[in-house]
Amino acid sequence: MISILAAAVLPMVPGVNDQARIGACESRVQQLGVAIRLYSEDHNAPPEALRALVDERYIDSESLLICTKTGKEFSYSPAAARAGGKSPILSCVSPTTPRGSRPHRHGVYNAILLASGELAAAR
Ligand SMILES: [Zn+2]
Repeated sequence: MISILAAAVLPMVPGVNDQARIGACESRVQQLGVAIRLYSEDHNAPPEALRALVDERYIDSESLLICTKTGKEFSYSPAAARAGGKSPILSCVSPTTPRGSRPHRHGVYNAILLASGELAAAR
């Protein structure tokens, strides 16, 4: 009975697994940020889709395109990448997703790469 209760309660606690998933997600966002920058320098424009980073071997594995928490491909905006500055170019889900539906830390955390290369966290 105790173990059943523990299993029911554990997913509500921000534990090691969730921290690891957030860390893995942020690591992917940062690696993609480097790849997008290199691609942009080589082509004088950012990629139109993340897939181009795989096709042209700027990243080793297409698993890097997936947020570790949502299991889905990152939301990417080439228009924002062209705009530069503080525009959010890559994030776990679309930046327009309501706060409560964002994937990390009980739905309020979202790893976001800004066009400046800075990694931001939306809450
Ligand atoms: Zn994520």
